[in-house]
Amino acid sequence: MKNKFLIICLIASSQYVLGQTKDPKDTEVWEPEPRVVKTTSMAAPPEDAIVLFDGKNLDEWVSVKGGKAKWDLKDNAMIVNGTDGIKTVRSFGDAQIHIEWRTPAEVKGDGQGRGNSGIFLQSNYELQVLDSYGNRTYSNGQAGAIYKQTMPLVNASKGPGEWQVYDIIYKAPVFNDDGIKVSSAYITVFHNNVLIQNHTEIKGTTPYVGLPQNKAHGKLPLMLQDHSNPVSYRNIWIREL
Ligand code: MG
Repeated sequence: MKNKFLIICLIASSQYVLGQTKDPKDTEVWEPEPRVVKTTSMAAPPEDAIVLFDGKNLDEWVSVKGGKAKWDLKDNAMIVNGTDGIKTVRSFGDAQIHIEWRTPAEVKGDGQGRGNSGIFLQSNYELQVLDSYGNRTYSNGQAGAIYKQTMPLVNASKGPGEWQVYDIIYKAPVFNDDGIKVSSAYITVFHNNVLIQNHTEIKGTTPYVGLPQNKAHGKLPLMLQDHSNPVSYRNIWIREL
């Protein structure tokens, strides 16, 4: 009797010690159930996305100088025109972002002067937009670079005048109550469906001169750079995470 009890105990404990159970139901998780998000087509935003630009107006944007966004609106695109950068009216933290962009068909300039713009996550961290199709510049400054920090894994650029896409997964940095950064921002980017940034740590701000800085902040607008080159944007949407 004593032995039989011991054997049962051993069998039972060995299953749990090894983390194994006999019943497949033991490892099924039913709650909570992920909510349904409808997607109509690959070109359209998912139903729970905030549409930041659909080609009709600049209502979701303001000038970084203050006041209305003054970029040109033409053929369902908004175009950089030298009136300074624009930023979203709303502020964001962790997010999934879809943004389409096009460098000028007429190639002018070279290096950083050809089709330069940029997508500033939380107004601070630049994902470079540049005509990097046969246009050599420093690697951590080409299209898809976290500017002056991390070069893209590959160059997935299309040619001048062609629409291109960034699909971004962004994790915002975390600061404690003393204003000290306790967790960096992280970014994953697909450029024209090709992975170019794979959970890349963002070390801080992305200045032209100097090292990354880390000043505490909360949610902030998404900002688009005016680098005096007529780069176009269209079909911009964001999903807060
Ligand atoms: Mg730029």
